[in-house]
Amino acid sequence: MSDSYDVIVIGGGPAGYPAAIRAGQNGLTVACIDEWQNRDGSYAFGGTCLNAGCIPSKALLESSELLHRAREEFPTHGIRIGAATMDVTQMQKRKAGIVKASTQGILALFKSAKVTGLAGHGKLLPGRKVEYTAADGTVTVLEAKSVVLASGSTPMPLKSVPFDGTTVLDSWGALDLAAVPKRLGVIGAGVIGLELGSVWRRLGSEVVVLEALDAFLPMADGAVAKEALKHFKKQGLDIRLGAKVTGATVAAGGVSLSYADAAGAHTLEVDQVVVAIGRRPNSAGLLAEGTGVALDERGFIRVDDECRTGAKGVYAVGDCVRGPMLAHKGKEEGVMVADLIAGRYGEVNYRTIPSVIYTAPEIAWVGQTEEQVKASGRPYKTGVFPFLASGRARAMEATAGFTKVVAGADDDEILGVHVIGPMAGELIAEAVLAMEYSASTEDLQRTIHAHPTLSEALHEAALAADKRAIDFPNR
Ligand code: FAD
Ligand code: NAD
Repeated sequence: MSDSYDVIVIGGGPAGYPAAIRAGQNGLTVACIDEWQNRDGSYAFGGTCLNAGCIPSKALLESSELLHRAREEFPTHGIRIGAATMDVTQMQKRKAGIVKASTQGILALFKSAKVTGLAGHGKLLPGRKVEYTAADGTVTVLEAKSVVLASGSTPMPLKSVPFDGTTVLDSWGALDLAAVPKRLGVIGAGVIGLELGSVWRRLGSEVVVLEALDAFLPMADGAVAKEALKHFKKQGLDIRLGAKVTGATVAAGGVSLSYADAAGAHTLEVDQVVVAIGRRPNSAGLLAEGTGVALDERGFIRVDDECRTGAKGVYAVGDCVRGPMLAHKGKEEGVMVADLIAGRYGEVNYRTIPSVIYTAPEIAWVGQTEEQVKASGRPYKTGVFPFLASGRARAMEATAGFTKVVAGADDDEILGVHVIGPMAGELIAEAVLAMEYSASTEDLQRTIHAHPTLSEALHEAALAADKRAIDFPNR
């Protein structure tokens, strides 16, 4: 460890570690400090995403979806394997292995980009100095020409239902369950509630999701949200909208939740409950007095479009700043600031950040919803293509859902693309690229899509926007 670096990054999650790697690739001397500690006390880079977010949740979603398909779909294919069951210990062991390989991979990436990884706490001092408290308690003051704050976020607590780590769980706790609870409560029908609710539902839990809002998935296109709710209900997720949780009584063997909705007051008895009502920026112990870095009223670090804070040479990226709390958004911000620091070009196009919800059916979108375009007053057209009409989706037994394109009626510019169905998260990449290049539906219409692929569904939706779909009657 040296006392001075060109760049010090505080936080080694998906916003911080790419910033450090790109800075290293740009020939700068870099240190990345991260205090993440696993349950066994070991330190790890990768932040929430790799340790307790994106990666472990997708591992469990894959395992539980495979079990579901073995039970529900294999007989349709003619595959007879007897009663498929889940060994939860093995499922969790596989997940832990994937997490370990992913987080250790960062150490190899750091080595190749000549990044010094430091385990412990980082605190910004005035004048681009950083106080580093190592794992053994040793305190050192480091100097940097530029500092990148990438401190991420933590689960939002609910005052009336405080986390206790055993009965009232946050998302990390819900990822680490050693056994399938008979009855699982989930507070919040957002992305975490739906993804983790789906995991434990597929494994046999009776899952009740309490959502405070009357609307379901209000950030998604209305038609997509409606289709999603239909499928989730069919899967047995008991989603109760307009449910305001008022309190919880934890007793041996479970928790009694009180909530109120339009019909009155209710109680819900469950064995465990997951509180997933959003996340809040993490700035605990991050900033000393007088750094010049300002927080907004919700605790996010204030930055401009290029992620510069109010302090010269200090940037902030990822979940700790405004914008969607998504790993790929943080990554692009991290890479952008590392390039800007090196005097190179860097930019994040905030209009083309894709969102993906990894349920079954999967949900993905980029750009504006039909409701947003309508509210803007801009004349528009839409094209929709159901997966039921896709040969590949039929071959996959995955005909639920549709693709939808929203485009300007006058200039044909693609304004938003929405997919609910198989591999939606992969399909959306084409739409992101199209929008990155300000493509029209005609551009998509004239692009050759291999047959039979799921990508044809996006092609057909683009054609449908001009009532020229081939594989589905135009309306
Ligand atoms: P974090 O990943 O939170 O990393 C911040 C790091 O900084 C942490 O390691 C923390 O320990 C460290 N740190 C903080 N303060 C200090 C300090 N003072 N000194 C040293 N270190 C510090 N997003 C997606 O895009 N796709 C998904 O599929 C997805 N799934 C998710 C599933 C779950 C269950 C959860 C909880 C989140 C999921 N997310 C997903 C969101 C994603 O995890 C976050 O958007 C992403 O991790 C944010 O990256 P970050 O680097 O800004 O912060
Ligand atoms: P969220 O914002 O997605 O959903 C929270 C939900 O809880 C909302 O529907 C909200 O109305 C509801 N809510 C809030 N207070 C409530 C209360 N008191 N009672 C009942 N419901 C209440 O947040 P999340 O699901 O906790 O996820 C946090 C972040 O992590 C999100 O910003 C998301 O972007 C990110 N994430 C992303 C992915 C992905 O990209 N696939 C997966 C998981 C998490």
